[in-house]
Amino acid sequence: MKKKILKSKKPKNAKRAKKIQKMKKAVKPKKVVELKVKKIHQKRVVKPKPASVSKLLVFLNAQYAKLHREYENYFWLSYMGDQTVTKAMNEALAKRDAFRADANLYSTVCEACKKAKGSSKKKLATWKLFFEKFQTPPALLVLKKTIAELESKIRTLHATQKEGYTDPKTGTFVEASSVKMRTMMRTHPDEPIRKACFEAKEKLSLSALMDYVTLIGLRNEYARGLGFEDFYAYKISTDEGMTKAELFSLFGDIYEKTKYAFDDIRKMEEKMPGLRKPWNFGYMISGDFTKEEDPYFQFDDALLAWGRSFSALGIDYRGGKLTLDLLDRKGKWNNGFCHYPDIIHYKNGKRTPASSNFTCNVVFGQVGSGAQGLNTLFHEGGHAADRLNSIQTESCLNTEYPPASTAWAETHSMFLDTVSSSIEWKTRYAKNEKGEVYPFDLYERKVRKIHPLIATDLMGIIFVSDYEREIYETVDLNEEKVLEIAKRMFAKYFDRSEESVYVLSVPHIYSSDSSAAYHGYGLAELSLSQWREYFYNKYGYIVDNREVGKEMTEVWKLGSSKTFKEFVKIATSKPLTADAYIRSVTKSLHDMITDAKRKMLIMEKVPEYTKPVQLNAKIQMVHGTKMICDNKKSFEEMAERYGKWLRTQKGK
Ligand SMILES: [Zn+2]
Repeated sequence: MKKKILKSKKPKNAKRAKKIQKMKKAVKPKKVVELKVKKIHQKRVVKPKPASVSKLLVFLNAQYAKLHREYENYFWLSYMGDQTVTKAMNEALAKRDAFRADANLYSTVCEACKKAKGSSKKKLATWKLFFEKFQTPPALLVLKKTIAELESKIRTLHATQKEGYTDPKTGTFVEASSVKMRTMMRTHPDEPIRKACFEAKEKLSLSALMDYVTLIGLRNEYARGLGFEDFYAYKISTDEGMTKAELFSLFGDIYEKTKYAFDDIRKMEEKMPGLRKPWNFGYMISGDFTKEEDPYFQFDDALLAWGRSFSALGIDYRGGKLTLDLLDRKGKWNNGFCHYPDIIHYKNGKRTPASSNFTCNVVFGQVGSGAQGLNTLFHEGGHAADRLNSIQTESCLNTEYPPASTAWAETHSMFLDTVSSSIEWKTRYAKNEKGEVYPFDLYERKVRKIHPLIATDLMGIIFVSDYEREIYETVDLNEEKVLEIAKRMFAKYFDRSEESVYVLSVPHIYSSDSSAAYHGYGLAELSLSQWREYFYNKYGYIVDNREVGKEMTEVWKLGSSKTFKEFVKIATSKPLTADAYIRSVTKSLHDMITDAKRKMLIMEKVPEYTKPVQLNAKIQMVHGTKMICDNKKSFEEMAERYGKWLRTQKGK
């Protein structure tokens, strides 16, 4: 189970990380028109020949793939710890952004689109939609700049403010980062210390309150300038092609059908006094399953388990290149992500395979790190499989950026990480040193302990989304109103015994890119539940099922050519609802255990994958700029060499 409670959703993918990076720069409304672009534009104005349509398409595709690659290559180096490329990275980013925001190019495409016919018209319409997503009407440019400056001011404040707590015994101030205090609230055995961390975090949450109120007003003004009722309506429409009403009808349904869990948690509190205090909940509930499960998730075995499992599903990277940098090291970005320097594009009608890099921060030998590494391989490996399988000719449909939907991207990665966290997978692939598989008894004990919480799994995401919705809808917003909404939402979605303004410490609300976008993870949870249910109904099983891989590949081929809702319908044959998700989290304890046993029984008839790993990818394992091994000889040989190298890294 993924823990989402009281934990700010971490940037699992590069997109979020990149957004953070992007926000570091001031927005440049200035157009940077490349010479080549100018030429094409002038040509069009002077002589709009039909031939220029195909030239324009060739230019758009090649240029976007090139600008994307230049930025992503620097991005990877920078995030892997080479700070000398930061300036070059920002310049490459500015060039790519200027291309997408170029008003001249946009009007060229619009004009050409009117005249074009057949498939060219369709292709140009794709580019028209693409450019539309990044255009800022001239009248809103100043406002956009003001918003960016204010966000930058808040970011600086957050990055430089003194963080720490007051030691309850000595009364002295102890410096500690917000992240550290959050970990301490979950792991420190001393309740007064946990409480001190909670109080310090509450205070820190208020530091940008005044500017935040101003920011909300400006963002709403911007969205209204674009013709939307408020900033939330604008974001959900452009990101996911949905309305607020659609989203909150799904979320409202989930809340109503799962809130009974709060009574169960109150009952748990009778046996665990103080459980509902915000500084106790995470600590008291987590238990020590991580330690007990650890021997079954050794990282030196993870690579082979991933390769075999993806091969058994028939996942094929279509001749693409994968570069994996999995161990933590000083100076490296502190979160897992996947990105695609070379995107799928076509040259003279021929498809060029793409490349993907992915990373995480495994500390080899640390308890829980093997499971974390395994999760990364499935999650980020899922993102890579999605984008590397596209057969869309227009390169703007093959990146992780709009028109790509976050909810749809996360559907694949999260679907594949639920494969590796399923009991069917664990009892087949997760083995300890002696070769014994993950015991069912361990699963059963874990479910028995956390069962009352399972139904609240999505509350943390709905909480942030609902809070932001109300913030953007509130007339004459002021500091008091923000605090009142923050506390009321916290009480509604967590039912703790103390009030909290925790939501004001969620970093996403302070950046225009990530504000009013938190629902993406929630929507992905709904769509993957619906997809899982669809596969279980159709085939009876998911792990090692080639048919599952085949059906996923069919939708991967479509790149970003549909909206999230359209994709869900294509994949699962049904419109998106919350039903499958609700069914999966509201099962009784008895049903959950019986269901797990039934699924394991079905797997007995499914033969284990024993053939060599076949992913149709050039894979290399790296550590920063150091190349460890590759799969030139075979995946198995690479996995063995990586394992050997890993054992030399213990304790480093
Ligand atoms: Zn992801």
